Amino acid sequence: MNKVVYDQDHDLSKVDSLAELQNMASACSRCSLRKGCSGVVFGEGNPEARLMLIGEGPGADEDRLGRPFVGRAGQLLDRILAAVDMERFTHVYIANVVKCRPPGNRAPQADEAAACLPWLYRQIELVSPRIIVLLGSTALQNLIEPGAKITVMRGKWLVSKSGIKIMPTYHPAALLRDASKKRPVWEDFQKIRDEYWKDRL
Ligand code: SF4
Repeated sequence: MNKVVYDQDHDLSKVDSLAELQNMASACSRCSLRKGCSGVVFGEGNPEARLMLIGEGPGADEDRLGRPFVGRAGQLLDRILAAVDMERFTHVYIANVVKCRPPGNRAPQADEAAACLPWLYRQIELVSPRIIVLLGSTALQNLIEPGAKITVMRGKWLVSKSGIKIMPTYHPAALLRDASKKRPVWEDFQKIRDEYWKDRL
């Protein structure tokens, strides 16, 4: 298993609750994405979840509703979770690399992701998951390695310095564009389910 590092220096270590962090993030204007969006989409789910899902950023539906993964890709994600007997408010906590919608649903630029990642790092610390699933290239490249390819890395377990098991897989939006990706994602989520329940059975 590879050793990987996602930790970076940040200045949010004294914030000791997700609610307080969300409050602070809602007023964030660290990057220019804030000017073009309706509001900050912080994240949602079980704040004590053992499994955390990390996507790219809010789309139009998420921006409008202020919740992550609620458009077509999000509905597909809910169906994927249901197929492994999981539900977003019970078993997982969901967040994104950037919390404001990039214009035209483009991928976040490096400076935008860098500005936003301290929020995500502190979310990870506060949720303290045992497993993280990286949904798509943006999450993989910003949390693991800039040049990493999702086609190569998906389905392989990594482990953070602090012992969190990390699985990259395709973003649900990619499945909507390319149905051939459904089977590998199904296989990945079966591994995730097995890992999730490993010490619970
Ligand atoms: S994307 Fe992140 S860093 Fe940029 S303004 Fe929104 S919350 Fe702040």
